[in-house]
Amino acid sequence: MAMLDVKNLSKSFGSLEVLKDISFDVEKGEVVAIIGPSGSGKSTLLRCINQLERADSGVINVCGTDMLVKNAKGKTVYADAKTLRDIRLKTGLVFQNFNLFPHMNVLRNITEAPVCVLREDKSKSRERAMALLKKMGLESKDKSYPCELSGGQQQRVSIARALALNPEILFFDEPTSALDPELTGEILKVIKELAAEGMTMVIVTHEMAFARDVADKVIFMENGYIVEMGAPDQLFGENASDRVQQFLKRFN
Ligand code: ADP
Ligand code: MG
Repeated sequence: MAMLDVKNLSKSFGSLEVLKDISFDVEKGEVVAIIGPSGSGKSTLLRCINQLERADSGVINVCGTDMLVKNAKGKTVYADAKTLRDIRLKTGLVFQNFNLFPHMNVLRNITEAPVCVLREDKSKSRERAMALLKKMGLESKDKSYPCELSGGQQQRVSIARALALNPEILFFDEPTSALDPELTGEILKVIKELAAEGMTMVIVTHEMAFARDVADKVIFMENGYIVEMGAPDQLFGENASDRVQQFLKRFN
């Protein structure tokens, strides 16, 4: 079963068409990398799937549940509020700039949503948060505040925060772009470990070697379109389109 199915998705901001007829799917356990120049619509795509933006038309299905569909009259409509909420809990999004709550310590950043949204038992969610922090190599930082951590540590906390809600599919929007080069590796390592555990992930990234290494499928976006999509060997190989090869030259 596809964990994510997107068909003919379109989105404009005013007269600016940002997503044009986007179609792709993600299977369970698959890792999909999205690459492409700045302004091509990558963040908007993730934001539409994660319900931070409203799409104009198309179809979005998450784990078999329709989020956005065409109704019998051919009109594009969103699911009802309860369904949207259920779907939102199945998707997690990790941002470029971490987006941690600055006034909450690390532990509280992770337990806030499980306790307040899922009504999880406080001590149980603390236990789970500590296990996630351990997994991220941050078990001694539970009482620290985000401003006391390095960018790499903050990003690992935000990954733990996303995982605390047990998402079926995890999205990353340029998770290392705000980090100094020497901190990038620690985040890529965590993502690689999640991939090895079978986590379904969609990752917008400019780390081409990483995308080639970890992704099952790579999507190249430009000007709101998916220009090319395929296995890493195809996109990063000699048979990729001239446009993709030209884009990739920048990273060599
Ligand atoms: P990418 O993540 O690939 O850099 P974005 O999805 O952030 O691209 O942006 C795609 C285009 O949409 C850009 O031209 C950007 O300026 C525009 N855009 C993004 N968000 C908004 C918004 N909230 N309002 C108006 N224009 C936006
Ligand atoms: Mg972006």
